[in-house]
Amino acid sequence: MGLFGGRKTVFVDADVLVVGGGMAGCGATYESRYWGRDLKIVCVEKANIQRSGAVAQGLYAINCYMGMQWNENQPEDHVRYARNDLMGLVREDLGYDIARHVDGTVHKFEEWGLPIMRDPKTGQYQREGKWQIMIHGESYKPIVAEAARKSATEVYNRIMVTHLLMDTTKANRVAGAVGFNVRTGDFHVFRAKAVIVAAGGASHIFKPRAVGEGMGRTWYAPWSSASAYGLPIEVGAKMTQMENRIVLTRFKDGYGPVGAYFLHLKTYTQNGYGEEYEKRWYDDTKALVGDYVDRHPVPTCLRNHALLREVAAGRGPIRMVTKEAFQDPHKETVGWENFLGMTIGQAVVWASQNIDPKFTNPELTTSEPYVMGSHATCSGAWASGPEDCAPAEYQWGYNRMMTVEGLFGAGDAIGGSAHKFSSGSFTEGRIAGKAAVKYVNDLKNAQPQVSDEEVRSLQKTIYQPLENYRVGRNEIVAGSVSPSYLLPIHGLQRLEKIMDEYVGGISTIYMTNGKLLERGLELLAMLKEDMNQMGAEDLHQLQRVWELHHRLLASESVTRHTLFREETRWPGYYYRGDHPRLDDENWHCFTLSRYDRRSGEWAMDKAPVYHIVD
Ligand SMILES: Cc1cc2nc3c(=O)[nH]c(=O)nc-3n(C[C@H](O)[C@H](O)[C@H](O)COP(=O)(O)OP(=O)(O)OC[C@H]3O[C@@H](n4cnc5c(N)ncnc54)[C@H](O)[C@@H]3O)c2cc1C
Repeated sequence: MGLFGGRKTVFVDADVLVVGGGMAGCGATYESRYWGRDLKIVCVEKANIQRSGAVAQGLYAINCYMGMQWNENQPEDHVRYARNDLMGLVREDLGYDIARHVDGTVHKFEEWGLPIMRDPKTGQYQREGKWQIMIHGESYKPIVAEAARKSATEVYNRIMVTHLLMDTTKANRVAGAVGFNVRTGDFHVFRAKAVIVAAGGASHIFKPRAVGEGMGRTWYAPWSSASAYGLPIEVGAKMTQMENRIVLTRFKDGYGPVGAYFLHLKTYTQNGYGEEYEKRWYDDTKALVGDYVDRHPVPTCLRNHALLREVAAGRGPIRMVTKEAFQDPHKETVGWENFLGMTIGQAVVWASQNIDPKFTNPELTTSEPYVMGSHATCSGAWASGPEDCAPAEYQWGYNRMMTVEGLFGAGDAIGGSAHKFSSGSFTEGRIAGKAAVKYVNDLKNAQPQVSDEEVRSLQKTIYQPLENYRVGRNEIVAGSVSPSYLLPIHGLQRLEKIMDEYVGGISTIYMTNGKLLERGLELLAMLKEDMNQMGAEDLHQLQRVWELHHRLLASESVTRHTLFREETRWPGYYYRGDHPRLDDENWHCFTLSRYDRRSGEWAMDKAPVYHIVD
């Protein structure tokens, strides 16, 4: 069978194309329909929208809810909180925009059937913390997906989008996307007036703690494959804060979340000798970051920093003190339910290691780094802000439009706006959907055009790894190993090793410097060259190849941003050994990058941080 033998090409025309049917993609699809009653709204998802994305297995808390109806918090409070946690650097316009709309989103979730716990005394939503409310969220994703499915003209499941298409009539304007069906192999060409990228964050950029058979056990979903970054980077969209990778303190080996434990069960941590240790590192941290250590709550990265220092001083393991809280039967139930509704694997790990948190304080550890834009971190695309509150410098078009015309983003895809989580990502999807519909309506008849030549060339490129395998398998020396192709798993492991050892992963305890980063870039360039030799045995492996392609682009971006920012802004996330301190005088700014796929060059820049909330 030839390269395209037996495979159909499916052409789809859309007004708004949503790439990724996770939280942000569902929000974008829902809202696009609201404002674009007669438009063709298409959502394309590489898994099945019913259970796809980071919320697939359910959540136990919605981490972004203001509670304005009960005067609990105002949007400005959330901006202050996110700014503090990100050591001063957030796009306050974007964060404010989400915060002012997020409550309406959560109320819709409840209307659609999501059970939200209520405080029996007040009747208000049960708070887990200042920003979090507790839910019975095993079916969170199917509930949200139903709203998107009913809003979309069509949902295409099992299609991995590999590349964006550019307009032939106007430079720097998007015209659609291409990809393939991971079950049938059919080639899909989506011609669209506006594209919203909502393809989630990135795991497996850095080597995970769990390797071998355990490598699927990561904190962020293993299928979050950096498409949200790879797709826009390749067409020249500017990225921001890509160095701001996140490291999570989590229960060891199962990555079970700690939020409900700290906030609701009021558990706390100790070193291996039963001592409180965070205060011990106050002076050390102050010397690195100055007054940021005095902020309340203590920024997430600085709490990691104290844990790492304590372990390096030889006083590990760090444990969560659960024995006291678990004596209360209510708290014990909440502790277990927290995992059963969200991270069942942690309960299984504890069972397998004979850990009953009522009698044994379980260990905590820090994860490998992840790249995302919706948690206590804000990597992603540089987006135009809301018309009414974004400073002029942050406005060049429609809300949430990237620096490529007609290309929008939401959720993990958009940089600068941390702490949006599931509800904020859905809300940002809604914001992007509304803006994309306005953009499409304003286009009138000036529709973007797709080049047949570009489509044919991409089709050949996308399926080439199958051909490489078909030819190269004649030289197989053992198993499926052949000297004439590289399998995606080997490429992935090579990428993770480079990022781990040179860009500040777990092996170096998150330490890097200019020399290491430059060497890392050389090795990444070699891996990039070898990507032409990728071999895919079947469609599953072909998907892995294109996931690796997106991960590699995102990794290069992370490395270049880390090299560009000559300071250590977030100790506990990563350290620049050659610039160990926070430097507000020179680096109280956003970092920006733009990749030129023709020359392979990256242009780096700074953008000012405007504080619009006092
Ligand atoms: C372990 C864990 C715990 C969390 N806990 C909480 C919590 O308690 N509370 C809370 O509010 N939030 C929590 N979050 C955060 C929340 O899940 C994310 O903020 C949110 O899902 C981000 O939304 P998104 O749409 O950007 O990404 P996702 O929801 O991950 O959606 C991305 C979608 O894009 C699809 N996709 C990816 N690549 C492609 C491609 N190339 N082509 C087509 N489709 C593609 C994916 O399959 C996926 O469906 C947690 C996340 C994790 C992983």
